Amino acid sequence: MNTPQPTSGTPEEHGDRYLAITHEVVNQPPPLENYNLYEQDIALQKAVHREGAGKAESDLKAFGALAGSAATIDLGFRANNNKPVLNTHDRFGHRIDEVDFHPSYHELMGIAFESGLHSSPWTNPGKGAHVTRAAKYYMHSQVEAAHCCPVTMTFAAMPSIRKQPELAALWESRILANSYDSRNVPDSQKSSVTIGMAMTEKQGGSDVRSNSTLAYPVGAKGPGQAYELVGHKWFVSAPMCDAFLVLAQTPGGLSCFLMPRWRPDGTKNPWQIQRLKNKMGNVANASSEVELRGALAWMIGEEGRGVPTIIEMVAMTRFDCMIGSSAGMRQAVAQATHHCRHRSAFGNRLIDQPLMQNVLADLALENEAALAYTLRIARALDSQDQEHERLLARLATPVGKYWICKRTPNHAYEAMECIGGSGVMEDCIMPRLFRESPVNAIWEGSGNVQCLDTLRAIQKEPETLDAFFLEAAKAKGADRRFDQFLAQLQNDFADISDFQYRARNLVDRLALVMQASLLLRNGDKSVADAFCASRLQSNGGMNYGNLPSGIDAAAIIKRATPVVG
Ligand SMILES: Cc1cc2nc3c(=O)[nH]c(=O)nc-3n(C[C@H](O)[C@H](O)[C@H](O)COP(=O)(O)OP(=O)(O)OC[C@H]3O[C@@H](n4cnc5c(N)ncnc54)[C@H](O)[C@@H]3O)c2cc1C
Repeated sequence: MNTPQPTSGTPEEHGDRYLAITHEVVNQPPPLENYNLYEQDIALQKAVHREGAGKAESDLKAFGALAGSAATIDLGFRANNNKPVLNTHDRFGHRIDEVDFHPSYHELMGIAFESGLHSSPWTNPGKGAHVTRAAKYYMHSQVEAAHCCPVTMTFAAMPSIRKQPELAALWESRILANSYDSRNVPDSQKSSVTIGMAMTEKQGGSDVRSNSTLAYPVGAKGPGQAYELVGHKWFVSAPMCDAFLVLAQTPGGLSCFLMPRWRPDGTKNPWQIQRLKNKMGNVANASSEVELRGALAWMIGEEGRGVPTIIEMVAMTRFDCMIGSSAGMRQAVAQATHHCRHRSAFGNRLIDQPLMQNVLADLALENEAALAYTLRIARALDSQDQEHERLLARLATPVGKYWICKRTPNHAYEAMECIGGSGVMEDCIMPRLFRESPVNAIWEGSGNVQCLDTLRAIQKEPETLDAFFLEAAKAKGADRRFDQFLAQLQNDFADISDFQYRARNLVDRLALVMQASLLLRNGDKSVADAFCASRLQSNGGMNYGNLPSGIDAAAIIKRATPVVG
């Protein structure tokens, strides 16, 4: 083996250190940190303004700086390197059902709750409210996605809890408080609380009608009344939440309940955590299996109307899955473009090499289309008093949840490959993005369930499809490929035989036509052109990096690359 020689100096000058100098580290990028996640994201800025949240600009800039700081990024790593631990009992043998999280998890939760990621559209509704929150969530989730689960559930629970006004009066101000209290104490001692949800049981998650947990009335029956719940739940994420929306059976059918972790008399509610799930991703967030041994809970909404009651919450969590997956894509694009901007191979920077340009531009397109779609739905949520927006949100939520979440895993993997071997190493964020990537697609209604929900919406309320096509058709005339694609898709909806069998194909194309429409109407010209060329027309290629010739890949990449170092 040849001993590497020092590039300068003499053996006499180097003395004993002569042989210790092996090499200089070159051709490695600087860490992607201390950058502003808002200011360095052109697509995000444009979408925020387009969808009506321009007045939040300075707030978003400040949040972008916080999210991109080295200290915040470090919290994400620490929260994942130190898995939550369940302590079922204290040393004296009392049940405590306490999950011990690393302090970094609590710090991230503090940032999220103090920034109103769980509350702002409810406390300050109106133009731009959901869009602003979505933009912040998009940035925060890039730093660490797992802890966003309880943030989302707390946010999403509000519409369902409001269906029982006297319960909402007890809980609302504490749910909406912009602070975070991690203590394992009765909620009566807290001025801010977090909310979880417990639907899935061993025998069924998609089909919650199979729930076997039973609810027994303590006294009077019906909405707002107290019940005791007996049964189990197979997946309960963030089990340290202060209360949960739970589904359980009553003689009138599946009903929805609000179940606090402590009883009003300050004793522990008999809701016992059996164990934590051993998850491949979403590690910083604890998910648990629990048994309910007469846990006290209050009915929300009508008896037997549990699914329609909790579905309001589920619609919001599905929306957040869209934001979260779009955010995962953004972070993957930021990491891949940043790396390739600083890394050379065969004498040229990777970002300047044509084949890598094709891959990077394709990844950037996917992200920008996901973001454009997500923030358009955020605007629809801000305008639910308008019928068109209500119908649009109803259909576009399952379509987008299905499509965007499902496009993320391969995207994360391709971005990892752009970085090469170092992208596989646990000391960078890529493995975390990859492991996180399937989760949004599976929970809150897996892919097929979203497609079936899309069909259900169309069959129950055909106006949803009219509204969807009306919105998409606003780009008519802007691009020939788009016009053809839209016409063919509308035609294919005329025949509803074997609708279920074809559902994925139809939903894929609904998502594509809406993304293309949004990019054509509002996006960057190069991005819109590349999207139509690669997504609405096939040249036979299936992987990322299949953009046809004639696309301005360099412009697309420039738009997406954070300039750091
Ligand atoms: C990390 C994590 C955290 C979670 N946290 C929570 C939580 O906090 N609270 C909670 O209640 N749940 C939680 N879940 C559970 C999650 O919501 C369920 O796993 C999910 O809804 C799917 O249910 P299942 O696992 O029972 O699968 P199943 O319902 O058995 O579905 C299996 C597959 O069959 C498909 N399928 C179902 N019906 C049909 C049909 N009619 N036609 C075609 N295909 C169909 C589904 O799309 C899916 O792909 C969590 C899951 C994960 C992974």
